[in-house]
Amino acid sequence: MKSGSEELLAIEGGKPVRQTFLPYGHQSIDEEDISSVVDVLRSDWITTGPKVAEFEETFARRVGARHAVSFSSGTAALHAAAHAAGLRSGDEAITTPMTFCATANCVLYEGATPVFADVCSDTLNIDPEQIRVRITEKTRAIIPVDYAGHPADLDPIRELAADKNLLVIEDACHALGAKYRGRDVGGICDMTVFSFHPVKHITTGEGGMVCTNDDELAAKLRRFRNHGIEGDARQRQAKGQWYYEMVDLGYNYRLTDIGCALGLSQLGRLENNITKRRKIAACYDDELKNLPGIILPSVRDDVQPAWHLYPIRFHRKSFRVGREVIFAAIRAENLGVNVHYIPVHTHPYYRNRFGDHCGEYPNAEAAYDTLISLPMFHGMTDQDVKSVIAVMKKVFGYYSTH
Ligand SMILES: *Cc1c(COP(=O)(O)O)cnc(C)c1O
Repeated sequence: MKSGSEELLAIEGGKPVRQTFLPYGHQSIDEEDISSVVDVLRSDWITTGPKVAEFEETFARRVGARHAVSFSSGTAALHAAAHAAGLRSGDEAITTPMTFCATANCVLYEGATPVFADVCSDTLNIDPEQIRVRITEKTRAIIPVDYAGHPADLDPIRELAADKNLLVIEDACHALGAKYRGRDVGGICDMTVFSFHPVKHITTGEGGMVCTNDDELAAKLRRFRNHGIEGDARQRQAKGQWYYEMVDLGYNYRLTDIGCALGLSQLGRLENNITKRRKIAACYDDELKNLPGIILPSVRDDVQPAWHLYPIRFHRKSFRVGREVIFAAIRAENLGVNVHYIPVHTHPYYRNRFGDHCGEYPNAEAAYDTLISLPMFHGMTDQDVKSVIAVMKKVFGYYSTH
């Protein structure tokens, strides 16, 4: 047992390291963001107006893609990508269990079946070798996720896909601003999906984007977000035309001009945001690498991550207690840690529908047992970063068996 020389944990009645709660992620909104939204509110268009096209064009240029098609959420964007990929009943799409459930749900929306492939134990990104063994006659698409903002191993995945005539939909909801082998995430795969939820790199309130270099996929995506209707309502109105044709079954998944104005303004600060996140990650790396038993996120040589999350793991035997107790102790110090992710195949809906596959994804399942995401966002102060490090040292030091 410990000597008791450490400061008493807040969970045991001691004084918390932080006076105020620090969340794991948070948007940053400045006066320019506010005035650009207000300008739209005073204009003629509040839903699909000029800001939508301006945001899409600026975004496409930033990530090096030919097209960017905006959506009302990242989930809607994933749904559209699954539809544009032609997924339907009887088809399979291979994805990772180490993600938010929306990644796999988009396959279900189109009546197809998600098939999980285990992750690599270092990056927790989908393992191309595990994808290879799961490919069948029914496989139509591969959906890798850039976990925590570290790009998946995209080239081997694209080679597998090219070999078997599959589409690659990259779920890059964590990875705006990341680079893979010198290229910006966004123009690498058949389709790349982003989210603008407030915890992501930039926000539109709710919102999402699909990027593609393929003209035909772009046209399908644009129709799908607007009821399957061909053409643009604003152009029709400008020309005084009333006739339109619905050629596909679509939805109302449009992003508003209000959201796009906010997104455009936020996109202007992306570089800054990424630089800040990289600094925070470097600081965590430096300060935590000597804490016995802690496993820091690993970064492969050929990528520059965007650091949406900073997920640590730990060696279970190095501590007297498990993640539940450690998590509660960190929370009691006023630190908003989180867990990313509960492996998708273990959710009740997936177990009830597809049977119990627990045990088939040992890397994802083992990682889940000790994962803890530390606070990581643009607006953190140096003092916030220091407090995170202090809490880690206090809590992990207290429960250490070393
Ligand atoms: C946030 C997120 C989504 C969903 O995006 P929303 O904009 O919240 O709908 C999908 N996949 C991943 C990996 C995400 O992190």
